[in-house]
Amino acid sequence: MAEELSLMELLLTNREMSKWREERGRKGQIVGFVPTMGYLHQGHLALMEEALRRADRVAVSIFVNPTQFSPGEDLDEYPRDMERDLKLCRELGVHAVFAPETEEMYPAGFQTRVEVEKLTQNLCGLHRPDFFSGVTLVVTKLFCAVRPHLAVFGEKDFQQLVVVKRLSQDLNLGVEIIGHPIVREPDGLAMSSRNTYLSEDERRSALSLSRSLLAARKLVSEGERNAEVLVAQVKAMIESEPHTRIQYVQVVDEKTMMDLNEVTSGAVMALAVFVGEARLIDNMRLWPE
Ligand code: AMP
Repeated sequence: MAEELSLMELLLTNREMSKWREERGRKGQIVGFVPTMGYLHQGHLALMEEALRRADRVAVSIFVNPTQFSPGEDLDEYPRDMERDLKLCRELGVHAVFAPETEEMYPAGFQTRVEVEKLTQNLCGLHRPDFFSGVTLVVTKLFCAVRPHLAVFGEKDFQQLVVVKRLSQDLNLGVEIIGHPIVREPDGLAMSSRNTYLSEDERRSALSLSRSLLAARKLVSEGERNAEVLVAQVKAMIESEPHTRIQYVQVVDEKTMMDLNEVTSGAVMALAVFVGEARLIDNMRLWPE
């Protein structure tokens, strides 16, 4: 164990990352991968544990990707703590951390785009015009550097998970994409690096996100099937809290990301809400399990 702890490698360039991967390949090891933007919390660590269960060697990337932020969003304020992140990864038994600088990922002259078309139109794609093309670009680049057999993504960003599955399939990237359930604080708040933006008061208001989703699911279990009714209920619960500004609350099909009028077995309620300055997202399957 002590030996493993000291063995985690910090890789800063694509070249170093690829070399590490080649060595793992030569040994016939299964490589798992967890991409993150750092400021790690238990949600990220759960994804890493899942990867460690499924793979012989696990690489984690820590990179705040500028191409997925639009002007005016929180790229510059996004929380960072590399020392702490590296310690958490090392303690968990992660084998390599890939932490490139922006110039390493996007050197002068960079001009390539990667687009997944339909799945990115609704929900976050409607409101964050640059987001998904930035995500698909960076995920493609990271997959090229790491060439993992499998990668674990959180259901917290459930549209992103579906988009990345499509991307891996469409471009024959050969990466098995594994979804991991949302990790929540004991009081229900979905863990997020952005929760650090919340004041105590705002954090109390933010609890209305998970609370309203649970209330919607309860209504469905009692027989309600009308998406409009459910959306109105959820909006009212969130709007009754101070500091909240709803960006969207929608009921969509978990495969197509298209709006549903009626709740069926694939229905997911997804929402994005500003609480103070923090833009928080959450989602829940509505169908009783
Ligand atoms: P981020 O660092 O926010 O880009 O997230 C990196 C990965 O962690 C993504 O696959 C997220 O979906 C996942 N993730 C973030 N928060 C959570 C959470 N609370 N539960 C599960 N997965 C999460």
